[in-house]
Parts: sequence; structure tokens; C-alpha cells
Amino acid sequence: MTPEQMQAGILQGDTAVQRRAMAKAITLLESTRADHRQQGDDLLTALLPYTGKALRLGISGVPGVGKSTFIEALGTYLTAQGHKVAVLAIDPSSTVSGGSILGDKTRMEQLSVNPKAYIRPSPSSGTLGGVAEKTRESMLVCEAAGYDVVIVETVGVGQSEIAVHGMTDMYCVLQLPNAGDDLQAIKKGVMERADLVVINKADIDPNAATRAQAQITSSLRLLGMHGNPDHANTGALWQPRVLQLSALKGEGVDKFWAAVQQFQQLQTANGRLAARREKQSLDWMWERIDAGLKLAFKQHPQVQALLPRMQAEVASGKLAASTAARNLLAAQSQQAHTASKF
Ligand code: GDP
Repeated sequence: MTPEQMQAGILQGDTAVQRRAMAKAITLLESTRADHRQQGDDLLTALLPYTGKALRLGISGVPGVGKSTFIEALGTYLTAQGHKVAVLAIDPSSTVSGGSILGDKTRMEQLSVNPKAYIRPSPSSGTLGGVAEKTRESMLVCEAAGYDVVIVETVGVGQSEIAVHGMTDMYCVLQLPNAGDDLQAIKKGVMERADLVVINKADIDPNAATRAQAQITSSLRLLGMHGNPDHANTGALWQPRVLQLSALKGEGVDKFWAAVQQFQQLQTANGRLAARREKQSLDWMWERIDAGLKLAFKQHPQVQALLPRMQAEVASGKLAASTAARNLLAAQSQQAHTASKF
């Protein structure tokens, strides 16, 4: 399939053709071959005018908290209302294991056979930055295909949560009812990013869930008072909320969606949503520039020649780390200067 055929397939309505084109396009975008990368960039540029209309929802939580059960319930609820729902994943462990648990279709049995849902597991190679890049690009493919709710799922591990927060409009953290006693999550800076905290499995211990809800609500209020820029304590801005839910019984999914819609309306009206997306895109550009420069630096022949000695000298304490860094940077620019003379 050529990139032009992919583009045509993605933009048209027939489900089977569209799914095939989406899968091919995402595979192309995931490829690291230079010619594929160029085709992928051209495809993204062509699709970009059709993107941006979806609500991008980040969902994180430790393994076992009920993410797939919740996404299955939410996705089923939304598709019944006529929405098209895409589920993508960022799984940092997949880069090590080569496989992915998140986004695994067997975890969402109903949704995976639902014609209005598209599920794609986490890319399984590269650095976390590379995996996040591919997920971000897959998100654009889904949006161009008319998916109006894109869910990006991740496990509760610091860096991948930051990546998901950095590509979604609204960031939701799933918690267990007994996690209210454990304020570690807040200290680690995980929950302070949350726009919505969901206490799942409330059916198991409703009292604990209510306690957790009260504790987390007051903690979030405290964080808000200390000036999280995303959640400044002003009437016109969104205040992070805590909800109780039972994903297994499907209870509370409607309240969750109502809160998401309120968030979307409020943050659209006050301009925060547009500002967040703008900042995300620019941050992303610089993040990728940093990664690209670092890669080019490491591949530079002069740097490669000098690197083993510099590393050994820093490790053995003969050379200050900052001096070694300066030497290596100089080695790279020397070559550049020499090259520019020709
Ligand atoms: P994930 O690892 O975060 O995706 O968690 P799963 O969705 O796979 O759920 C882990 C286990 O918790 C499964 O056995 C689910 O059936 C169960 N579970 C998920 N949500 C609920 C809930 O709301 N109530 C109860 N009682 N069990 C749940």
C-alpha cells in the first residue's frame, strides 16, 4: 500500500478499508528505516489538517488497578452513544520485553470486536521517547480517521506518565480504594498532574473508597493552593476532581464521562485546552530535537574516537565530568569547522 493509498483509506468511511489503512500507516510510522521515515513524515503532513478534533484522554494506574476493565466499560458506553474510540498504549516495559501488555486486545474482549473501536498495543522498541513519539503519531492517524475519543493508557511509572500527560487534553489517574492512605503518589508528582482521580473497585469496600475520595480531594486542593500552573485556584479554571467507580459493574462510568465533558467545555471556553496543546506540540518538537542531536552526537566519528577515553577518565576520577563533556563537544565542533572549510 502506498502512502497515498493509506491516506485515502484513512480519510474514507468504510470500516474494513479504513482499519487496514490505519494499521499500515501506523506500521510505517513505527518503522525506523530512513525512507519509511520520510514517507511517514509526508503522510503525517497530509493527515494533519484532519486531526485535532478528538478528545485526548490519558489514563494511568498501576497494574491491576482496573485500567483495561475501565477502558472496556468506557469504550462500550461511548460507542453506544455513537462515538468512535481509539485506545493506544505506552508501555515502557515493552521496550525491554519486546512485547506489550497494555493495549493487548485480549484484555478488552468486547471492545476489540467493536467496529467503532480501534485498539493498538504499545510500540515495542526504542527508548521511551521513541515509543511516545510513535504513540503520538498513531494518535494523529486515529484522529484523521474520525475517532473522536482517543484514550492513551499507561502503567503507573513516572516517565511514561509524564509522556502521556504530555500528549493528552485530560489526564486521569486510577487508584485503588486503599491507596488514599498512601500519599506517595502525590509526593512522587504523579497525582499532582491529574485532572481527574478515579477510585476504582469502589464496590469492594465502599467505606474505604469514600475515605480515599475525601483524602485525595483535600490533598489535591492543597496542591492547587500551592499553585500547580495547570490547576491554579481560580473559579474559571478546572479544579481536579475525585470520583468513585466500579469498572467491573460499570457503575460511575456515566459520571466519569459527564466530568470529562465539563472539563472539555470549561477548558475550551477559557482557552486552556488550546494552550495546552500548543505547549505540548512545541515541547515535543524540542524533545525530539534534543534526542536527534544526542544521537547525531554519539554517532559523530570524532566523538566516537574520543568517547571511550573520556568515559574511562571520568569513571576513574582523572577528569571532571564537565571537562570531559566540553572536550567531547569540542571534538564534534572541530570536525564541523574543518568540514566547513572545504
Ligand atoms: P489493569 O492491569 O489495570 O488493566 O487491570 P485489569 O482491568 O486487568 O483488572 C485487574 C483485576 O481487577 C481483574 O480481575 C478485574 O476483573 C478486576 N477489577 C477491575 N475493575 C474492578 C472493579 O471495579 N471492581 C472489582 N471488584 N474488580 C475489578
